[in-house]
Amino acid sequence: MKIICIGRNYSDHAKELGNATPEEPVFFCKPDSAVLLRGNPFVIPEWSNAIHYEVELVFRINRLGKHIEEKFAHRYYAEVGLGIDFTARDVQDELKKKSLPWEKAKSFDGSAVISEEFIPLDALPDPKNIRFSLRKNGELVQQGVSSQMVFNPDQLISYVSKYMMWKMGDLLFTGTPSGVGPVAIGDVLEGFLEDRKMFSVRVR
Ligand code: MG
Repeated sequence: MKIICIGRNYSDHAKELGNATPEEPVFFCKPDSAVLLRGNPFVIPEWSNAIHYEVELVFRINRLGKHIEEKFAHRYYAEVGLGIDFTARDVQDELKKKSLPWEKAKSFDGSAVISEEFIPLDALPDPKNIRFSLRKNGELVQQGVSSQMVFNPDQLISYVSKYMMWKMGDLLFTGTPSGVGPVAIGDVLEGFLEDRKMFSVRVR
């Protein structure tokens, strides 16, 4: 199983980090070892002083495919979940300055929160306008709607498939809206898809 994550896919978030809205999708990978095991707290690694949460819609791929045309991409997923792309922002800023890859900042152990439940798209009120949000210690810190994506899931699945084959069970993190921020020991992060609570993660 691989996890492909999209960067800068909401222009309000690209702006808040001083990045231009991309002309083609930006993507990177997290290994399966990045998945935070259910029920475990997120432990802040000792080598970063700026771990940020990024709440993101996550689509699960259900068929094998490569070179997928955009018009057929909808056949490759049927459910959506919610996750956090934990990011060591201080490390990422250093890597960006040196034009180096982001893995140290993005792909470390525990950096991928993934909801246990995935919701069938046809069970949602509007699959093209999926609302989601993140609360930190009960306070709303991020909210988004999938129609605000710069590149929609069909475009992303098609684009990535030109470079990497999708396999059943692979996950696509689709980028975060604005409002990213740091976590501290003791914080509790709760993710919501529509009005459904999808996860609760304690920071240690
Ligand atoms: Mg992200």
